Amino acid sequence: MANWKIEHDRPGCIACGACAAVSPDFWTMSPADGKSDLVGSKHIEENGEIVREELELDDLKSNKEAADCCPVNVIHLIDKKTGQRII
Ligand code: SF4
Repeated sequence: MANWKIEHDRPGCIACGACAAVSPDFWTMSPADGKSDLVGSKHIEENGEIVREELELDDLKSNKEAADCCPVNVIHLIDKKTGQRII
């Protein structure tokens, strides 16, 4: 089982690009609507809109920096062992 779950509450993203700047291996900017996408994530959709992106990882790698720099706090990191959301 993976140690971490990364969640992106995509509707709240203001398309600032900070996550993609500090963590380009995991975050890209969508040419469709300008918001960021979590590379390789599972998309949770409602009414045809992505409401959340989720990715499970053994190691957070640069996603801690991405979550720390998000000005609207829409990137969350969940410790799967404890269930605790650290950001
Ligand atoms: S840092 Fe936050 S607001 Fe900025 S593009 Fe990434 S997810 Fe969106």
